[in-house]
Order: sequence, then C-alpha cells, then structure tokens
Amino acid sequence: MSETAGGIASAILNRLSFERKPEEDEYLNSEGLIICKKCNTPRQCRVNMFGTMKIVPCMCKCKCEEEAQRKKHEEEMELQRRIRQLKSSGIQEKHLLDWRFDIADDNKDIQMAKRYVENWKKVRADNLGLLLWGDVGTGKSFVAACIANALLEKSIPVLMTNFSKILNQMGAMYSDERYQYIASFSNYPLLIIDDLGIERNTEYALEQVYAVIDERYKSGLPVIITTNLTINEIRNPSDVAHARIYSRVLEMCTPVHIGGGDRRRSIGMDKQRTIKEVLDL
Ligand SMILES: [Zn+2]
Repeated sequence: MSETAGGIASAILNRLSFERKPEEDEYLNSEGLIICKKCNTPRQCRVNMFGTMKIVPCMCKCKCEEEAQRKKHEEEMELQRRIRQLKSSGIQEKHLLDWRFDIADDNKDIQMAKRYVENWKKVRADNLGLLLWGDVGTGKSFVAACIANALLEKSIPVLMTNFSKILNQMGAMYSDERYQYIASFSNYPLLIIDDLGIERNTEYALEQVYAVIDERYKSGLPVIITTNLTINEIRNPSDVAHARIYSRVLEMCTPVHIGGGDRRRSIGMDKQRTIKEVLDL
C-alpha cells in the first residue's frame, strides 16, 4: 500500500471506534477487553493498525461455534435443496424415488449395483455403461433406480427415463428443439433408459432412438439401459435399423444379466448351507 493510501486508511481507522460498555452477558477483564460470560473468551482484541493499537471486535468461542453450526446447517439445507431439485428433474416417475438400496434384498444384482455407485468416479472416467437384461419382473428397473437414487443423493445429476416418454416429448417439438432436447441429456453424467425395445417400431421412432443413443455415444458419458430383450436378440437384430442401435448400445454398455432365477438359486444355496450347519451334516 502506498504511503498516501496508508495515511488515508489510518485516518479512517482513527475515527472508527469499537470501544463500548459490556452488555449483560459480558464483563471487562483486567486488560479492558470485553469477555463473554458464557464461555469466558474475549469478544474484543487489540490489533496493531498502522502503528496504533486499536480495539476491534472478535467472536468469542461460543459465538464461533454457533456460527460454525449455523453455517453447517445452512450448507446441509442447501445440499438437501439441490438433491430435491436433482431428483425432481431426473426422476419424473414418482414411484421410482422409493426404489432405493435401503429397501433392497442383498443379492448379487444389488451388490453389483452398489459397486457401480461406489466406483462412480472410475465408472464415469472410463465411461462404463451397463445393459441390464433379463426377463420381465426380475428387477432390472429396480436395480437401475437404486443406482439413480444413490447417485442423486450424492448430488450427482442422473436422468432416468424411457423411449416412450422421450418420443412423446419429441413429438410436440420442432426439429431444432428436438436436437436441443437430445443434446440436453449430456447435462446428466449418468443417463438411464428404462425398457429399451418397448417403443414403437416405426421408422421415425427408431431414428430418434438411434439419435439419442448416438448422441450419448458422442458425449462419452455412461448410460445404463434396461431391456426385456435377450442378449441374443440384441446381438443378432432382425433388421438394419435395430442393428445400428444395438451395435452402439453394445459399444457403450457391458451386458449384465439380471436374474430372479439366479437370486432364487443363491437363496437356495444359503439355505442349504444353513441346514448343513444346523444339522451338522
Ligand atoms: Zn461466548
């Protein structure tokens, strides 16, 4: 600071005075500084300002703690607000919000899904997509929704949607709006498309499905796709339109068979083990 600026600053400081009488919850100590009665730490201190000692206010210990607590609470509220916002934009079907790890069975599919969330940084960096396939009712959407909710709770934006919904929304748009809409999926580090294969098989629909998949491919961001199709149907599509969609999907996603059958088998194994232990066979 230049001398003139320093001079102006000290002139201002000289006129400023923080000296005051103690309030009811305060007292003066032997050095003439105001002390908090509650925590017995100073609410004033002396500092050297441009060569003069000045009394300035400071926060006593209990006020500091109060302040830290208030800040923490505010941050927590802000985080919760952000998570609510992310959830309402990322998961529009309300029942999916309840599909979370804390109500899930502990089976191999759920364990896999938990590892996906735990390793999210690597998943994202290496662009590791999943193709969850298996029969109706094996819990593919449940597994995907558990992943979505767990990541959203870490305030990571996830969009969980399906092609029926995407095509419906695109139906009411002009072509440049459609492009922007598809491009907007890149705002989500994880895109989950539920139920690939149930959308209409029209040329228009398949073209839009390909556009969404291809845009995701170009964005280099992971996608999770669930489908009732068999892995064989995905690997050997019947026509060109499906072939180019599925080949992109297979480039982005590792197929994971989600199987109620396997789950039952593993429960059976556990029971067998327990029986052997109980009966000492
Ligand atoms: Zn205090």
